[in-house]
Amino acid sequence: MSDLHNLSVKALVSLLQTKEVSAVEVATRFLARMGGNPHNAYLDIDSEVTLAQAQVSDAKLANGTAGPLEGVPVAHKDVFVTRDFATTAGSKILSGYRSPFDATVVQRLRTAGMVTLGKLNCDEFAMGSANENSAYGPVQNPWDMARVPGGSSGGSAAAVAAGLAPAATGTDTGGSIRQPASFCGITGIKPTYGRASRYGMIAYASSLDQAGPMARSAEDCALLLSAMCGADLDRDSTSLDMPTEDFAASLNNSLEGLRIGIPKEFFGEGLHADVRAAVDGALREYEKLGAKLVPISLPRTELSIPVYYIIAPAEASSNLSRFDGVKFGHRAKDYTDLVDMYKKTRAEGFGNEVKRRIMTGAYVLSHGYYDAYYLQAQKIRRMIADDFQNAFKECDVIAGPVAPSVAWKFGENANDPVADYLADIFTLPASLAGLPGMSVPAGFGAGGMPVGLQLIGNYFKEAQLLNAAHRLQQATNFHLQKPAGV
Ligand code: GLN
Repeated sequence: MSDLHNLSVKALVSLLQTKEVSAVEVATRFLARMGGNPHNAYLDIDSEVTLAQAQVSDAKLANGTAGPLEGVPVAHKDVFVTRDFATTAGSKILSGYRSPFDATVVQRLRTAGMVTLGKLNCDEFAMGSANENSAYGPVQNPWDMARVPGGSSGGSAAAVAAGLAPAATGTDTGGSIRQPASFCGITGIKPTYGRASRYGMIAYASSLDQAGPMARSAEDCALLLSAMCGADLDRDSTSLDMPTEDFAASLNNSLEGLRIGIPKEFFGEGLHADVRAAVDGALREYEKLGAKLVPISLPRTELSIPVYYIIAPAEASSNLSRFDGVKFGHRAKDYTDLVDMYKKTRAEGFGNEVKRRIMTGAYVLSHGYYDAYYLQAQKIRRMIADDFQNAFKECDVIAGPVAPSVAWKFGENANDPVADYLADIFTLPASLAGLPGMSVPAGFGAGGMPVGLQLIGNYFKEAQLLNAAHRLQQATNFHLQKPAGV
């Protein structure tokens, strides 16, 4: 069983349930691969904790009380708080922080039987598109070590692509599940805002933040998503009061007659030719599967960049005010009084991008600028959501690229934050509207790097997205390709 690390979640479930392998064997295999922390994907590993969880899973498998994913390993983005592992959100300000409780998503996956492998690297407080903003160093893309893995869930995407976890959690505020999934050739889904509880997910921009699974296939994502989602009304006021759903139940539905909307704004200048070619190839596959391509328009696509980069920093400036050296993590050593302690702690603890966003956010919310920036952005956000509802009168799902290019090389955008912001153009609209979106491997582009197809659905249509993604994965083998040496 030397290829345990290449098995799908689904395959691992059946091997574990038939007792062909034990949870301890599976965990041991992944822990061995994680030794030396390849790609800098992990921020915290504790093999004792992992093996103890695996033993509990083996006992449950033996006595017939196993959960649906019992014994299958998972790793969590370091934005989810965990009792048994440190949680830093990729920030120095939280170095050494340990939460007294588990995030709801972590707890739900554990209840389903998943064994935690560790915590995954990410951009500081999930702010970034390349994982270059982590205080603990960047993550290398397993397809090309000289390139970024995408962000902010870069460690999650790299870990799955490199066989360092069969599945991972991510968070997506403006594209942080979809874009790294695209850059690393894996599958990821951000559900409808409110589907997964945000309790214990360190807040970046609360009206946008959403958790989701990242794995090799749509089928595996469906298994995790079913376990992750569910109402958590007492602990997250924006959690949706909806029954849990079996997202794997409709994966094989026919796509005959499915109307796929193609927004013209997603195919304009700026989209690299290699990405376009791969996306076009996937769309042709959909036509072969019986779907119809329908031209649509999302006229305010471009405005999603300024709107998002006003609203997200505004919310972040408020959310991050709690990191002041009093309750959590880092505190400056030498200070004269309380205000000086706050200032020094925050100056030392936050990285440049986080500081930039706190300042932008405070500015757009301040007296005299609120109406001109924040209020305007909120109004346009509503119009962007309305544009989607107009589009969904003509189509069932929307398809396009996840990002304008494949993963770039380290340092290419490092001194140009706006270049990173602009590359979020295709993922931000669905985030602002709160719609579910996913990335599905669609081929390879420049430098042999993976390209993701983005599928966006209407509210609560995750099952339909996963069905469309699964059918594409039955017809193609892009999601089965692996980086050299995996
Ligand atoms: N790249 C976007 C940002 O930096 C999105 C990040 C995210 O989804 N967490 O804010």
